[in-house]
Amino acid sequence: SAEIISGTQMRAAILEELRGEVAAIKEKYGTVPGLVTILVGENPASVSYVTLKVKTALDLGFHEIQDNQPEDITEDELLALIEKYNNDPSIHGILVQLPLPKHIDEEKVITAIDPDKDVDGFHPVNLGRMVIGDTKGFLPCTPAGIQEMIVRSGTETSGAEVVVVGRSNIVGKPISIMMGQKGVGANSTVTMVHTRTKDLEAHCKRADILIVAAGVPNLVKPEWIKPGATVIDVGVNRIGTAPSGKALLSGDVEFDKAKEIAGKITPVPGGVGPMTIAMLMKNTVASAWRHLGAA
Ligand code: NAD
Repeated sequence: SAEIISGTQMRAAILEELRGEVAAIKEKYGTVPGLVTILVGENPASVSYVTLKVKTALDLGFHEIQDNQPEDITEDELLALIEKYNNDPSIHGILVQLPLPKHIDEEKVITAIDPDKDVDGFHPVNLGRMVIGDTKGFLPCTPAGIQEMIVRSGTETSGAEVVVVGRSNIVGKPISIMMGQKGVGANSTVTMVHTRTKDLEAHCKRADILIVAAGVPNLVKPEWIKPGATVIDVGVNRIGTAPSGKALLSGDVEFDKAKEIAGKITPVPGGVGPMTIAMLMKNTVASAWRHLGAA
């Protein structure tokens, strides 16, 4: 049976490391990392994501501003708010929770964030830095979390066949590029597959590391997994409601049977999800070091 890669445990270890860095920043500069989370409207999923981010930031001792705005804020007002935080020296990271209401152009908003405070790593400048391997940028949090899990699980990536299912801008595309880069936790041979791929199964079967980010429950069958492979299941699918009222979640991989074949596998929940938040905090701490060091 596969080793279960616990994102929850890895998150705890990373946050512990970050606590030490926050203390070091405080000692050296007399201040702490600053993060603002901007939430527009009251979408329940967004509220719960932001709440968790705020709680984690406060727990690490960050200066944290939770800036909640009404659903009917205008685009201009939101852009002005971002400009305010771009110019606020106590803020090192700006996070705008997506999705935004339809009357607001998301791309315009993301592009308005100072790339050096874009701790979500969604700004085109940071995506460009990622592509050329420039470490001044911020890596997008979910792909960064995936790579961190692969490294911390002790999986060899150099020369490994990596198959990524999905080509979205926030997961599939960036993780494909990152795994193919030169460097630690990379140097892999990457295949990115998607809805137009002819033989999904044949590709998955070749993978030493299989990263699945499709958003389709049970898409990946156990017999598609190469024995001993490392399987990273990014999917978060609501498949029902527990008697308690809590959402029942499943990944994109048939976990119960897949874990009998894989060498290492991430669960859902408790896998990639917790790592995403840890990487957001890590980016914010990195941003604080850079801003304070340059000041
Ligand atoms: P998306 O819908 O933007 O992209 C899904 C991709 O999967 C598409 O590129 C599509 O080509 C591919 N795909 C879909 N169905 C397929 C099929 N049948 N065969 C082959 N390819 C197929 O989704 P996303 O934003 O990349 O998210 C993917 C999943 O990861 C979702 O379940 C999402 O909830 C989850 N997610 C989790 C985290 C986290 O922190 N754990 C973060 C982001 C996304």
